[in-house]
Amino acid sequence: MSTPSLFQEFAVDLAERKNNHLYRSRRVLDSPQGARVTVAGRELLNFCSNDYLGLANHPSVVAAAQAGAARWGVGSGASHLVAGHFAVEQALEERLAAWAGKPAAITLSTGYMANLAVVTGLVGRGDAVFADKINHASLNDAMALSRAEVKRFAHSDVAALERLLAASTAKRKLIIVDAVFSMDGDIAPLAEMLALAETYDALLYIDDAHGFGVLGDGRGTLAELGLASPRIIYMATLGKAAGVAGAYIAAEQVVIDYLINTAKPYIYTTAAPPLIAAAMLASLDVIESDTARRETLHRHIAQFRAALANSCELLPSRTAIQPIILPDVETAVKVSQALFDAGFWVAAIRPPTVPTPRLRLVLNAAHTDKEVAALCNMLQLVLSY
Ligand SMILES: *Cc1c(COP(=O)(O)O)cnc(C)c1O
Repeated sequence: MSTPSLFQEFAVDLAERKNNHLYRSRRVLDSPQGARVTVAGRELLNFCSNDYLGLANHPSVVAAAQAGAARWGVGSGASHLVAGHFAVEQALEERLAAWAGKPAAITLSTGYMANLAVVTGLVGRGDAVFADKINHASLNDAMALSRAEVKRFAHSDVAALERLLAASTAKRKLIIVDAVFSMDGDIAPLAEMLALAETYDALLYIDDAHGFGVLGDGRGTLAELGLASPRIIYMATLGKAAGVAGAYIAAEQVVIDYLINTAKPYIYTTAAPPLIAAAMLASLDVIESDTARRETLHRHIAQFRAALANSCELLPSRTAIQPIILPDVETAVKVSQALFDAGFWVAAIRPPTVPTPRLRLVLNAAHTDKEVAALCNMLQLVLSY
């Protein structure tokens, strides 16, 4: 047996990544997700998970998952359209639709798939998509897969978006945007974008992966901004603030029915285990009733920004995502490692995920004020080198 020659090419590529501080590897957790986690026998303060409200290991959500397994079993056994759509999932869809202020919703196994589903399900050849340059990678993949004409505009540049819409002769027009940008934490100018969607008869697709559960009393960015329109197709992921897994799309009934009939990432995949829906219903109960969690999170955001305002370049974010831009990848990796050695887990985000290397700090309702203060002190120390 000979080694395939391509393996040598892979090895060279990986070596190059290592030289450039761009090699990626994983750390193994020995604990549930949370504000404090165990990695290789060490307890760390975790400032990089998207479990913003500390629900991934919440007792009532865990209990609901266990009860869900007892009631519904583990596997779903089929796609939603064949034989894999359970009453608990139907109940969750109805609840999530109402939570978003929309008539209908469907759930998918991941946010990545939901983005593929919406974009490929709604547009194709002869249509056009209009996307912010720093949208999430899954939206970029979704656009490529759809074969629609791709028009990108500079980050949050509404005038540039208008020029593209005005010049377009495409049959269907779909504006695609992150509500909260995942690596920057800022909020898209959604009111202006909705106005343009009205003017140019486009639909507006909003990915609220980081607003759901956090903004708008938990209902997300649309509620925060007081926006509603049949033109808006709303998506939120359920593995971040909700602490569970999956995603949902909420829209007018006709849009949801159309997606159920056209979206291959919905049709040709086995439905998520129904116990996920059971856990998600419990998570939504907590998101709805336990407002103290959100208040704590927003207090931590304010505390963090006040503590670091004078010592580093913060981005204009009022969400849990608080990046610190660093001069180069080597510094980003070194600072992240220094923090890790001191017991603070903070991710260094590098190209190609972002154009400018940074620490992506994520605050969490389950941290204490003292832990956030300790983080700020340590950041000031390692950033002053
Ligand atoms: C995380 C994320 C996704 C993907 O969601 P998953 O459920 O993790 O697959 C999509 N969009 C944005 C903006 C995200 O941050």
